[in-house]
Amino acid sequence: MSKVVVIGGGAAGMMASYSAGMCGHAVDLYDGNEKLGKKIYITGKGRCNFTNAMPLEEYFNSKIVTNPKFLYSALYGFSNDMVMDFMEAHGCPYKVERGDRVFPVSDHASDVTAALKRGMDEVGVRVHLNQKVSGIIERNGRVVGIRLEGGKEVLADAVILATGGKSYPTTGSTGDGFAFAKELGMDVTTLRPALVPFVTKEGYVPLLQGLSLRNVTLTIYDGNKKVYSDFGEMLFTHFGISGPLVLTAASLLGKRLEKSGSLRAEIDLKPALSDEQLDERLLREISENGGKAFHNYIAKLLPGKMVDVFVDLTEIPAEKKARDLTAEDRKRILNLLRHFSFTIQGLRGFKEAIVTQGGISVKEINPSTMEAKHHPGLYVCGEVLDVDAVTGGFNLQLAFSTGYLAGISIE
Ligand SMILES: Cc1cc2nc3c(=O)[nH]c(=O)nc-3n(C[C@H](O)[C@H](O)[C@H](O)COP(=O)(O)OP(=O)(O)OC[C@H]3O[C@@H](n4cnc5c(N)ncnc54)[C@H](O)[C@@H]3O)c2cc1C
Repeated sequence: MSKVVVIGGGAAGMMASYSAGMCGHAVDLYDGNEKLGKKIYITGKGRCNFTNAMPLEEYFNSKIVTNPKFLYSALYGFSNDMVMDFMEAHGCPYKVERGDRVFPVSDHASDVTAALKRGMDEVGVRVHLNQKVSGIIERNGRVVGIRLEGGKEVLADAVILATGGKSYPTTGSTGDGFAFAKELGMDVTTLRPALVPFVTKEGYVPLLQGLSLRNVTLTIYDGNKKVYSDFGEMLFTHFGISGPLVLTAASLLGKRLEKSGSLRAEIDLKPALSDEQLDERLLREISENGGKAFHNYIAKLLPGKMVDVFVDLTEIPAEKKARDLTAEDRKRILNLLRHFSFTIQGLRGFKEAIVTQGGISVKEINPSTMEAKHHPGLYVCGEVLDVDAVTGGFNLQLAFSTGYLAGISIE
């Protein structure tokens, strides 16, 4: 039996505590917060989309953004099915929704934390709240414990680092683990906010604030190169764009955006119609509304909030009668319906990011055990690692899988 100290009582730290305890170790978990799983409470809009039921191969094909190969052992060792079984067995029955997203039947994120707590109680994990850790102690090339704020040292045979990323810092995830790793000389890759909204340049975007578009195609270009295109839902805000399509794009393109400085976004407002169908529709509107002003009949093709901006961008006088529109005018309208464009200039900050991209380099970590290669006795799991995924329950699954593996790997 080893004495194990876990830093961080989020998804990864709680699961690691459970699995280490299950293996017969004496586990002490430290968290700076007044309660466990503070971030879990706000996940999935308070419902906690705690995993995704799609086959694991799909995770590796398209859902894990950074370092999927590194996660192979962890995910197959403690899979999505096993997470669902764990939750069910610990008093949190689940349901599978659209897109294979898995939620507690109760729709309460607190039930996920309660299940993890139940698991930890079962195996005798001791939880120390309001206890911020200030560093990791290494002696003679081996990690031997932690230092608490105030200076007290807690010695252990193994330390599990599960401090999360630095997004939504009000939940306690302030990025301390990155500093601890750097103090030990470990490589931490560039950190950037991910699953985060985009900031845009043009003044007309904020005018659309609050407008939510469904069933549109968002395409993003770096120069002339198409770098992202997907169909779904997005939202205009006072600073730019957000919503599911945008968050995913931000995770995939953050690095590129940093390099290129800006990217061009285009929305196809009518992706279900071919050019011919769209032109026919426009001609029909024109013939049925010949006496109406441009801004009145175009409203039939657009969400109300968009009409003024759209009319301005076509540079067609708002009062021009439908019957007076030229072929050139029609072309402009069609073009704008297909390519409503603006410039992406940056990402919003960590405060609004669902996850942190970057972290402790996976080159530092043994993927079969989560132990630090050059710092025996130290195990690392969850978002503090350089791994991240798109939305849909994948990020919590990564935290659970890596946490579980860290816990069972301690000898
Ligand atoms: C708004 C929002 C919604 C989300 N929704 C989902 C979702 O529905 N599905 C999904 O899969 N993912 C979701 N995520 C992402 C997911 O929550 C995280 O990826 C996951 O919680 C990471 O788990 P973790 O245990 O690694 O880190 P965290 O959950 O961040 O936990 C880290 C813990 O370490 C503690 N800690 C940090 N530093 C110290 C220190 N020095 N001393 C002591 N303790 C410390 C913190 O207090 C914290 O409790 C969401 C994220 C956000 C912000």
